[in-house]
Amino acid sequence: MALWNLGGINADHVYGVPHIPAPGETLDGQSHSLYLGGKGANMSVAAARAGTHVRHIGAVGEDGAWARDRLMEYGVDTRAITTVEADTAHAIIFVAEDGENAIMVYPGANRAIPEDHLKQSLTQAETGDWFVCQNEVNLQDEAVKLAADMGLNVAYAAAPFDADVTKRLLPYLDFLILNEVEADQLKQATGQGPADLPVRDVVVTLGAKGAQWFGENGVVDVAPHVVTAVDTTGAGDTFTGYVLAGLDRGQPMEQALKTAAKASALMVTRHGTADVIPDLAEVQAFSG
Ligand code: ADP
Repeated sequence: MALWNLGGINADHVYGVPHIPAPGETLDGQSHSLYLGGKGANMSVAAARAGTHVRHIGAVGEDGAWARDRLMEYGVDTRAITTVEADTAHAIIFVAEDGENAIMVYPGANRAIPEDHLKQSLTQAETGDWFVCQNEVNLQDEAVKLAADMGLNVAYAAAPFDADVTKRLLPYLDFLILNEVEADQLKQATGQGPADLPVRDVVVTLGAKGAQWFGENGVVDVAPHVVTAVDTTGAGDTFTGYVLAGLDRGQPMEQALKTAAKASALMVTRHGTADVIPDLAEVQAFSG
């Protein structure tokens, strides 16, 4: 089995600054670090570290070879990452001394994935494989319909949230995952709570409160792990990557969710994103 992830790949440039620059102000940055980011890339790394075969479908620019190499190092199958004539997506992240942040994301190559490339990549998927995407790239609509037609299990992580996109994709989904805020936004847009949506399995993540699964047996609570959180970036992506990896490897939903909760709890005890997502052995050894 395999997981196919159509997702964004970002270069996250993080600058330490004394304060967030005001309009018209110029100031010196105090530090600069470059990280691999993007919800898509994070999910692929999480799924690979959880032990499943994940092929990332996406695009980078000529300046993005390092990101592809990093994904490969982390165990992701990068053969369906193409190079396009656009800048690799990047985020400019200011982190002020008081912890305040401000972020600009330039989508670049993430929104320039050629449709032919998507179709060509998916021809190698097999019935019963899992497909997932997020709302960071172009072609979600085309991809989700194609994956459903091919008999793949279709998952969508509704972030960054867009009510119209989510509503359009709902009829094709087997699995939908949202955080609490996104679930509220979807309810406002559709009038339907997670239990009423026309999707086989819906998972709502609740931060430190754990998660809830709305499936054929009603609502199942996923208990949280009590940890001291130092950085919650990437918690949701780690959770999603782990659940889908578990399902792709044939685990029952409840077991996949438990492992995902443990993995994402361990993740929030660490600073960083893709580079620090724990592997399955670390998660199994974690007693939090
Ligand atoms: P997102 O990052 O997408 O907003 P959440 O904040 O809901 O998603 O976090 C996803 C999952 O990560 C939660 O369901 C939970 O399992 C885990 N998690 C997040 N924050 C904490 C925390 N403070 N303590 C323990 N687990 C956490």
